[in-house]
Amino acid sequence: MKCAICQHGYTEKGFTTVTLERNESVLVFKQVPANICDNCGEAFLGSAINQALLSQAEKALQRGFFLEMVNFTAPTVAAEISLL
Ligand SMILES: [Zn+2]
Repeated sequence: MKCAICQHGYTEKGFTTVTLERNESVLVFKQVPANICDNCGEAFLGSAINQALLSQAEKALQRGFFLEMVNFTAPTVAAEISLL
């Protein structure tokens, strides 16, 4: 798909790192499936991935921490759907 940010590049399947912050907690997800622009590098997350990220973040935040870095584990099906 054509990049919505720079209007020049095209996105390709890849992985990105997403950082979520809430209050004093910082949560870093690595290996998040996304469509990456080959021009500007913008990462586009599918809605299923977004939802999975948020629900995982909620669980992590309930544990209470200051900084945590985790490998994102998306349900395979959700990842496939969001990247279509
Ligand atoms: Zn772009």
